[in-house]
Amino acid sequence: MSVVALKYTKEKKVGEGTYAEVFVGHNKDDESLIAVKMIKVDKFIDGLDMSAIREVKFLQEMHHPNVVGLLDVFVSEEGNLNLVLEFLPSDLEVIIKDKSLVFSEADVKSWLLMILRGVHHCHRNFILHRDLKPSNLLIAPDGQLKVADFGLGRSMSFLPYEKMTPTVVTRWYRAPELLLGARHYTGAIDIWAIGMIFAEMMLRVPYLAGQSDHEQLDITFKALGTPSPQQWPKMEYLPGYNKSTAFKIRHPAPTRQQMQALFSAASDKALTLLCSMICMDPLKRATTAQALMSPYFSDTPLPSKPNDLPKRH
Ligand code: ADP
Repeated sequence: MSVVALKYTKEKKVGEGTYAEVFVGHNKDDESLIAVKMIKVDKFIDGLDMSAIREVKFLQEMHHPNVVGLLDVFVSEEGNLNLVLEFLPSDLEVIIKDKSLVFSEADVKSWLLMILRGVHHCHRNFILHRDLKPSNLLIAPDGQLKVADFGLGRSMSFLPYEKMTPTVVTRWYRAPELLLGARHYTGAIDIWAIGMIFAEMMLRVPYLAGQSDHEQLDITFKALGTPSPQQWPKMEYLPGYNKSTAFKIRHPAPTRQQMQALFSAASDKALTLLCSMICMDPLKRATTAQALMSPYFSDTPLPSKPNDLPKRH
């Protein structure tokens, strides 16, 4: 197997995640830049997790301009699983944080469109991302945004009644059903995260930045209103519902004017789309297909071309 590894060089370490170390390198065949994501073997509790294999297989078969391309897989001599990915030098977090970059509505529209297209492709293939956040949205040199880090090493369930862990998605992007301990969830958790990212692109700071899981539910309700059983009928069946103190104070839902005041540069169609993605009841939340059909995308200004998007020089 290491014969395959000889095709690639691993040069400088460019990133470190919970499960992996990422290196920049070259494909010796054509000298193209590649990234090698080395999954540490000790992260697999019982040998190589089946979900990692399923994940690799999925990425290998999936070709979409807005999903990171998996070029190859090899096992190194130490037994680590190495994924050879297209090299993506930037990410949306870096871009949002760089205050020297000015975003227009057309730019935000373009990034959101690429996120939704990539995630729609995953959902159509029965894959939940479960960890969408700006740092997992990588940017290619030509400006194309690519959804990356597909929950490797984390088990994923596609059976509707199989239990899944509620401790997924980085806190600030976590949907209320997850904060209330839901163990059966859908693509709606990814849509909530995309809504949070959309809000963050407009505000240039994270929208709901809780300091603890407990505080996250409090600030979510404070910002968007405490849901009533009429608004979200299945809420009371969630494991955390009775234990949660977040329902003690009932916050009113913000008016449209208050939302407009907060997202001052947002157009009417942008606000309507945002609200449809951050609806408390996951059954009422927009799907990726519905979000993609939003008139926000066909309205002027049209989305910027990826190559024209602001980037760091
Ligand atoms: P983990 O699954 O352990 O969280 P990630 O996939 O998030 O690991 O990778 C960790 C970091 O490595 C990322 O934040 C990013 O900076 C970098 N990285 C990941 N994939 C690539 C890539 N294809 N090209 C360039 N850098 C990458």
